[in-house]
Amino acid sequence: MQPTARPIAGALRLMPHVSQTKICMHRYTWQNQQDLPSRGYTCGYCNRPLASARGWHGVLEHNNAIRAFVFVCHHCTGPTFIDHDGSQWPGVVFGNVVNDIPEKTVADLYEEARKATGAGAYTAAVLCCRKLLMHIAVAKGAEAGESFAAYVDYLSANHYISPDAKDWVDHIRNKGNEANHEIVIVGAADAEELLSFSEMLLKTIFEFPAAIRKRLAEPKGP
Ligand SMILES: [Zn+2]
Repeated sequence: MQPTARPIAGALRLMPHVSQTKICMHRYTWQNQQDLPSRGYTCGYCNRPLASARGWHGVLEHNNAIRAFVFVCHHCTGPTFIDHDGSQWPGVVFGNVVNDIPEKTVADLYEEARKATGAGAYTAAVLCCRKLLMHIAVAKGAEAGESFAAYVDYLSANHYISPDAKDWVDHIRNKGNEANHEIVIVGAADAEELLSFSEMLLKTIFEFPAAIRKRLAEPKGP
């Protein structure tokens, strides 16, 4: 299994106004921590990159070799388990925060898809994204009860998707049809590309228009 850490923390660092997806409400002082070989990773709780050298190690039962670690994040104090092949739990949430989504259901579905992708639950993430795109289309005037492909076509036909993204539209529609009548187990690439597509749509439909509305509403200087 591949590590699930994703390089989104840099983007978040450049956008200090952006709220992080998971913030520990409480800080902990963990007892009996040990010194460990320093390890770089991105914390799945606070999304910050760090190198930790404090926590605990685990040994394999059959030969006592040190092969697993629990590192403590010195930013948020959250504990992260890294196993013998480098897989990380909790993984890092995939994708970027989108602001100013007016409908809570849409915002919640997007966050759920990000978390599912970060956790390696790719099929769940794709199903979330499909539902998300259907909600967006209905929010923008499509009829309820249509097929996933019909909603993708609606968004494209009504110019919510750039004409230059036609290949994307075809690809997403075909992927949607694959999973339409049966649950197809999908991999990381399918989940990540559908989530990236959803992020792009949410930003262009909700975040960017809201940003310019706020800018224009600011009081003018003398
Ligand atoms: Zn952290």
